[in-house]
Amino acid sequence: MLTLSSKSTTVNFNTLRPKPFGLSPLKHNRHDARNLDDLQHLLTQHLQTSLEVDRLFGYFFADITGLIALSGLSYSHEKTDLHLQLGSTAANSCTFPLIHEFESLGILTLYQEQPFTLQKQMLLENLVDTLRFPLRNALLYRSAVQASLKDPLTGTGNRAALQQSIQRETELARRYGQPLSLIMLDMDHFKRLNDEHGHDAGDQALKSVARLLKAQLRNVDMVFRFGGEEFLLLLANTPASAAVQVGERVRRAIETTPLELRSTSVRLSASLGCAVYRPGESSDALLQRADAALYRAKQAGRNQMQLAV
Ligand code: GH3
Ligand code: MG
Ligand code: MG
Repeated sequence: MLTLSSKSTTVNFNTLRPKPFGLSPLKHNRHDARNLDDLQHLLTQHLQTSLEVDRLFGYFFADITGLIALSGLSYSHEKTDLHLQLGSTAANSCTFPLIHEFESLGILTLYQEQPFTLQKQMLLENLVDTLRFPLRNALLYRSAVQASLKDPLTGTGNRAALQQSIQRETELARRYGQPLSLIMLDMDHFKRLNDEHGHDAGDQALKSVARLLKAQLRNVDMVFRFGGEEFLLLLANTPASAAVQVGERVRRAIETTPLELRSTSVRLSASLGCAVYRPGESSDALLQRADAALYRAKQAGRNQMQLAV
């Protein structure tokens, strides 16, 4: 499928021809690729050197702009929540739905000021085709990394993800002097829920709470499952006053959203401990202070949040 319109063009990856077109020798470019074969060879070499999707498109853009005056490209892959933009958009665009063996490898759009001539589109088809295998491998790698950082039951970050994020966020908070808050949340009387309604009901409750947490928080906030029925919220650029509001919102959402089981509905509640990062303290110390605050919330009667000292 090759659809043409005045301003935008869509080219289907599946229709890409296996062999390059016999185009006339191409003009000199910064990589000394004198023709399409040279450029494809060069691109293929570059694309073999990385499994990072953004790097692949970085190479792709740098290599082909030596040949074609593109102003920018955008790429998105919904399945792994990836959205990239290099350079800038322009009046004319050419879109490639990237499909390999019935699997979507995302959507690539190239931009330039002048309209895309048919010759240019054919040339681009061939160049985009060099992305096929490196991109598929990079996306497989990205999916594997993402899966290894997710808790399978709730879809929140797991402990490994927390470890990475807390190191990065404490470092950023220290370097830029920005406030960072950590909330540790533990479900109240969860053992009782399991005992009275079964382990499946407990699992459903964990999923429901994870959904509530994600719904209550801004995108940049990070939610992790820390242990069995414990979650951690990492709130970047958030001082104590705002963290107290977030914690209260979350506590209230859990309290007011009963778990609907087949024959009954069960009220849930959680206790929370909040600690604000002290510049220089270790992430372990920060976690320990949040844990101590959580312990006080339990001692004080549950279904509440306490601030760490
Ligand atoms: P408290 O209010 O003091 O926190 O009481 P609690 O019963 O929640 O705390 P406790 O630590 O005694 O028990 C936690 C229970 O959570 C133990 C276990 O049965 C349950 N649990 C831990 N992980 C899972 C899980 O993945 N699924 C289910 N269904 N239950 C879990
Ligand atoms: Mg617990
Ligand atoms: Mg508990």
